[in-house]
Amino acid sequence: MSITQNLVQLKASLPENVKLVAVSKFHPVEALKEAYNAGQRVFGESRAQELTAKQKVLPGDIEWHFIGPLQSNKVKDIAPFIYMIHSVDSLKLLEEINKQAAKHKRIIRVLLEIHVAEEDTKHGFTPDECKELLNSKAPFNMENICICGIMGMATNTDDAEQVRKEFHMLHNLFSEIKETYFKDNRDFAELSMGMSHDYPIAIEENSTIIRVGTSIFGEREY
Ligand SMILES: *Cc1c(COP(=O)(O)O)cnc(C)c1O
Repeated sequence: MSITQNLVQLKASLPENVKLVAVSKFHPVEALKEAYNAGQRVFGESRAQELTAKQKVLPGDIEWHFIGPLQSNKVKDIAPFIYMIHSVDSLKLLEEINKQAAKHKRIIRVLLEIHVAEEDTKHGFTPDECKELLNSKAPFNMENICICGIMGMATNTDDAEQVRKEFHMLHNLFSEIKETYFKDNRDFAELSMGMSHDYPIAIEENSTIIRVGTSIFGEREY
């Protein structure tokens, strides 16, 4: 099936309140153009250099999401235009995003990445580290970031019950953090979880943003 057909089918299957980030990393600009022409405006990339190169040549009304590990020294390159950064995993990174956003008189939306998967290759805060960060109050003194929720990945396994359990944990943590630190804050509303192989389970477990690459663009060539 074509990118257009994949998108149409996927979109038709999603509840209205779930945002689709089309993960276009490693795919050429032509592939993004096809998705754009099919109506897609929200794209996700995981490498700063690739993202800035694509942003330069693609239409200005695209909403760009950064979803991969982000080095502090790369923040300045994406700060002028990035819509949301899903992968914040340290106070240092948060401070740098705040600083660069201020330079451009912007407020950058961020998600705190939480590590729940049974794999040590995945980035992110443990639930305790995340609560420690929020207890420190440091994030609440930054005027050029908006903390909009949390992001997570489940273990890459065929065991659907384990995946569900991990998404369930992420949703519980989201609710707890919301209640404790963001009770009257309407911006803290996003739970970014679910990829090509597990997004239907993520949606059942209350995901609000799914990040889907392969099911739209096909396999990546690294
Ligand atoms: C690549 C990537 C995705 C998309 O993965 P697919 O399996 O291709 O849907 C989602 N989230 C993150 C953080 C990624 O790096």
